[in-house]
Amino acid sequence: MTQPHKMTRRRLMQATMATTLLAGTARALPANPDVVVIGAGAAGIAVARSLVDQGLEVVVVEAAGRVGGRAWTESDSLGAPFDRGASWLQGPADSIYERLARQLDFELVDHRNPRDMLYIGNRPAETSERRQRDRTWSTFYSALANGRSDVPAASLLDMDAPFANVISTWMGPMDFGADMDQVSRLDWYSFADHRINALVREGLGTLAETLARGMPIRLNTPARHVDWSGDGVRVETDAGTIRARACIVTVSTGVLASGAIRFTPDLPDTKQQAIHDLPMGQLVKIGLMFDGARFGVSPNDFLSHDIERTLPAPACYYLAFPNDHDYMVGFAGGRFGSELEAEGERAAIAFAMDQLESMLGSDVRRHFLRGTMAGWESDPLARGAYSAARPGGFGGRAALAEPLGDRVFFAGEAMAVPHATLVTGAHINGENVAMRVGTLLNSSGCLGCATRGQAKRDSRLAAKRP
Ligand SMILES: Cc1cc2nc3c(=O)[nH]c(=O)nc-3n(C[C@H](O)[C@H](O)[C@H](O)COP(=O)(O)OP(=O)(O)OC[C@H]3O[C@@H](n4cnc5c(N)ncnc54)[C@H](O)[C@@H]3O)c2cc1C
Repeated sequence: MTQPHKMTRRRLMQATMATTLLAGTARALPANPDVVVIGAGAAGIAVARSLVDQGLEVVVVEAAGRVGGRAWTESDSLGAPFDRGASWLQGPADSIYERLARQLDFELVDHRNPRDMLYIGNRPAETSERRQRDRTWSTFYSALANGRSDVPAASLLDMDAPFANVISTWMGPMDFGADMDQVSRLDWYSFADHRINALVREGLGTLAETLARGMPIRLNTPARHVDWSGDGVRVETDAGTIRARACIVTVSTGVLASGAIRFTPDLPDTKQQAIHDLPMGQLVKIGLMFDGARFGVSPNDFLSHDIERTLPAPACYYLAFPNDHDYMVGFAGGRFGSELEAEGERAAIAFAMDQLESMLGSDVRRHFLRGTMAGWESDPLARGAYSAARPGGFGGRAALAEPLGDRVFFAGEAMAVPHATLVTGAHINGENVAMRVGTLLNSSGCLGCATRGQAKRDSRLAAKRP
């Protein structure tokens, strides 16, 4: 059951910190900045913070009416903070996200070793069955770690092993947003172990939003065209054209593949191949709000179920009552997740409830209040959950990161090896790219400085003279 709403020390501290951060005056947006950033997700926010710190003039254009991109917490649909996109704070220790969460006294639950309740039909698996499942998990892990080339991950797995379908569904659709035949073995191998893996009661998206405060971000301003044919860059948006010395593109590979942003000259073949090699994995989240009942399940448990038929199967695994909220979150990924999203919210909620009922019994229906579906494939500003390299396509992550003519740069989760797909990875990658761009623009003789940029610097220096 949730705590009654009262002003605890935690709430008081959060309120004070939030007010302090909000109090920072919003910067006036320069008309012709040094850098224009496309997208105000985790990467774009990190880029903006770093470039501002380096003394450069920046404008971030964001197509949506909010910041955070795929890190988005809202409380309207369930009446409690619900992360529609990213929710686990994962990746390296001591990231700015972790530090901010601790400063704000947010509630973090360590989720490195969650209890995973496996159901076989309507009963929890017995100890011997759970051991079999764990052995298969270890065998799969070793097979992938010891495999040599960039083959489809599924080709290395013994699918006759006990619970092979259950583990395969965890590793593929639930983790990568892709079925294991579509997962690159090398991509799987490239991920660093998480030093932190925590659930944030107030929402991971809330942290992204907090980091964006005071940054020069123009909302509801989609970029349509990046012209890098001349000196510097011209970015056409729905609110006019912005001229800058450099541009940093932080949209997802799904958005790049959709052609929503046109480039002149066209993106080179290597870049187009990289975008093709990094399609978006699909992961649908279904939030199910209950009236406080717990059905014998503990907060933060995972619930998975046996899968008898061949893959890809209609599977929904659950996170139970994260941080003791009264809701569960169902996850469906890969090809099936994609199908479920296309069927719409009503069908997705019905499916998630049916599956849950088959595991926990009909009690779940009596205590169910309302649900919501967070699907990302149909969102034109994301086109999916996160990048998942095709087998043979792992090299796309490095190729995508290559700049165009030292004036168009790319940043975001897709390039954040070894923390690709993560919010913290997107942030670190954004910071690194911003440092590179800042160094280039602040050094003499850089591209784009020849004309307007150099003149701007000279006039700034002149203005400082007595
Ligand atoms: C369902 C789901 C679950 C996830 N779970 C986790 C998790 O538990 N932990 C974790 O760390 N990560 C998770 N992720 C992944 C994580 O959310 C992303 O890796 C990260 O947020 C990506 O940040 P980004 O800045 O690279 O891209 P984005 O967040 O996609 O930012 C790009 C921005 O560009 C904007 N944009 C798009 N087109 C245009 C345009 N034409 N002009 C201007 N702006 C444009 C978008 O609106 C967006 O704000 C999850 C994602 C999803 C969808």
